[in-house]
Amino acid sequence: MKLLVIEDEIKLADYLRKGLSEEGYVVDVAHSGIDGLHMATEADYDLLVLDGMLPGIDGLAVLAALRQSKQTPVLMLTARSQIEDRVRGLQGGADDYLVKPFAFSELVARIQVLLRRAGGPRNGSEPTVLKVADLEVDLIRRKATRAGQRLDLTAKEFNLLSLLLRRQTEVLSRTELAEQVWDMNFDSETNVVEVAVRRLRGKLDQPFQWPLLHTVRGMGYVLEARES
Ligand code: CA
Repeated sequence: MKLLVIEDEIKLADYLRKGLSEEGYVVDVAHSGIDGLHMATEADYDLLVLDGMLPGIDGLAVLAALRQSKQTPVLMLTARSQIEDRVRGLQGGADDYLVKPFAFSELVARIQVLLRRAGGPRNGSEPTVLKVADLEVDLIRRKATRAGQRLDLTAKEFNLLSLLLRRQTEVLSRTELAEQVWDMNFDSETNVVEVAVRRLRGKLDQPFQWPLLHTVRGMGYVLEARES
């Protein structure tokens, strides 16, 4: 899941980037309405966190311009608690709003609700619970179980597993995994993918009778149930 935070207060923007990354999201930040609008229009984000008070073009103007081409879910942040601003935001196409100052946990909860709604029956083609053999991954509750046992995964391990499961039986290269899960360009000096795969295997496969995550030499990794 890829989020764009449009917030001009550098400290708050950094805090949101860090916190949401730890929750397992890939996070981009824009510090002005112009930059944010450009990024939101050019790239496909799953959700926008949009501050209302921005220099230049403000949040409502960004929202109005964005809505001409995109229906990306938007969570607006506002320092003003006046009812008129909330109404204007919602009329302008915001999906939800949060009044500053807010608790980080509430922000995360609101984001989850909006993502669930966006991925739900309304326009959703993708199921939110994925299965292969005795592995089950709930993308919304961010919970993975194998043979009924809960797997204790970090946010990145969960994202890695989700991606492999979504594309099960397909061989995914290290480069692709690095880009999709870590949002970075693959650097041959780093073995971050291999390390993460090894850790994931320790939790996903080692405690159980047969492996689901396989290495395809020279190509990458594939998640599938194999006859043994
Ligand atoms: Ca602001």
